Amino acid sequence: MDKGILSLRALGLIESPASIMPLIDSFNRTIDYLRVSVTDRCNFRCVYCMPEEGAEVATKADILTFEEIERLVGIAMRLGMSKIRLTGGEPLVRKDIALLVARIGALHGLTDFSLTTNASILAPLALPFARAGLNRINISLDTLRPERFSRIARRGELQAVLQGIEAAKLAGLTPIKLNCVVMRGWNEDEVLDFARLTLMQPFDVRFIELMPINWSKGEDGGQGMDSFFALSAPSDEYQRPGSIPLYAKSELASLRSTFHEKSVASTQLDATAMRKAFVSSREIREQIEQEFGVLEPAEVVANGPARSYRVNGGLGTVGFISQITNDMCLTCNRLRLTADGQLRPCLMADGEVDLRTPLRSGATDSDIEELFRMTVLHKPKEHRLEDGSAPVGRSMSQLGG
Ligand code: SAM
Ligand code: SF4
Repeated sequence: MDKGILSLRALGLIESPASIMPLIDSFNRTIDYLRVSVTDRCNFRCVYCMPEEGAEVATKADILTFEEIERLVGIAMRLGMSKIRLTGGEPLVRKDIALLVARIGALHGLTDFSLTTNASILAPLALPFARAGLNRINISLDTLRPERFSRIARRGELQAVLQGIEAAKLAGLTPIKLNCVVMRGWNEDEVLDFARLTLMQPFDVRFIELMPINWSKGEDGGQGMDSFFALSAPSDEYQRPGSIPLYAKSELASLRSTFHEKSVASTQLDATAMRKAFVSSREIREQIEQEFGVLEPAEVVANGPARSYRVNGGLGTVGFISQITNDMCLTCNRLRLTADGQLRPCLMADGEVDLRTPLRSGATDSDIEELFRMTVLHKPKEHRLEDGSAPVGRSMSQLGG
């Protein structure tokens, strides 16, 4: 080792890698992945994510500035969080988003820097993003049919999204992952078209199970998850041990509840509609295997919770994100930072730790490091959807999906 570096370390002038205390939660999971929502606004209104009109959005003053986001990401990285994803809402509607991508892309120690987008305004930004250090991109695409696109996303056009995908490919933001939320009565009959796409294109199509985020009372009055599970195709992969406490340290008062009862009829899918639309990963996989034969397991870069496979002869892959019917919580490695500065330990449980107030009241970096550690202590072992414990406080666009 370079002697100069050794002596600087001995003097405490540079940090030794050994001095970084990684974030490890109460269930021995290393937390190294931060999803950063840069806005809760969006130019689409996907039926499962936002109401068509009157979506609640934070005021500009409540949204973290680029400087605040950069500082928090820097602190997270010093705690060993080396995988960063920008998301939203739609991250690309945030003014000057390319500047933020460049600021984060310049941080030393990132191992994976990615972004999730609906791609509708991606085309001119893909190359600047790649040059600014973004590694890859996930694009949401629920249908390949223009008229359905208008029904599901309710704003924007399929053609613009396809142009965005092409631009991402040309810019080398690969592998490109296409996220498709499968819903009965909406797009489940396109599963084979998406699988076929992977024969010709090197895309990783990931079929996502519909999640009961922002649960509102359905017309049948049911709010619990029981009938959700009953309606979904039963899966032998689904098994969950009983009586595990929801939070490792549930008595800690630092976790802010985001629960609020919804009062108005929403044009977002409600509980009843979601239960009807739910399609399990197993059902999707069976559909694909009936057409194309048994799927071969495949390796995909930075695959997170997806299990991926290749259709025989395919350039790309098909993957399944089965957060409802399969136990993905056991390997969960992430925290979410909302656009209004709340750190959320679990997508599926209403509870957040406020970083914005201390950030704006003179907290030091080590104060904020402590808040990251506290949030990790609040990380539940798993979601408890089957016990009726669905997140109802905020929609996916507010949480950072
Ligand atoms: N606007 C960007 C986009 O759509 O890619 C990023 C944010 S969006 C909230 C992130 C992902 O969450 C999208 O892939 C979307 O399909 C998914 N999502 C939103 N609501 C969902 C729900 N209720 N169930 C499953 N996935 C959902
Ligand atoms: Fe917007 Fe993404 Fe939500 Fe669709 S899923 S409404 S694109 S934030």
